[in-house]
Amino acid sequence: MNHNPLPIVSVADKLSYPPRLSDFTQTFWNGLRLGQWQTTCCEDCKKVTFPPKPVCPHCWSSKVGWKPLGAKGILYSWTRIHAAPAVFASESPYAVGIVDLTEGVRLACRLVADEDIALSPGIPVEMVVLQYEDGPLFAARPVLDPQAN
Ligand SMILES: [Zn+2]
Repeated sequence: MNHNPLPIVSVADKLSYPPRLSDFTQTFWNGLRLGQWQTTCCEDCKKVTFPPKPVCPHCWSSKVGWKPLGAKGILYSWTRIHAAPAVFASESPYAVGIVDLTEGVRLACRLVADEDIALSPGIPVEMVVLQYEDGPLFAARPVLDPQAN
């Protein structure tokens, strides 16, 4: 499995709801800005956790390290939001989904998909970085031709 940087998609806007940064999560967000896609992995029980956590939620060990993630996953579920919360209203309609990464991580994120693209559970997706003017956000988009990679 390769761990090339995620594709970066520029967004000419500011984040509607910037993530809260901490000393711990800065590693994740600073890396994501460069396309690095990673999370924490427990050095005791070896389980991977997303979002990154300083303590393993499976065995409570504080011996966690950073582990690169692959970009590929499968769309588990999705929806398109038309009546958005006020902070996201200017971006609606937009799609969000639940993605199962190859590494066994399940996460929720924005989906980069125009309304004419058919989304359905089970389709292959890849993670991308939405590079806003003031910071990055992770998102997924359908892999339109899975053979092309
Ligand atoms: Zn653990």
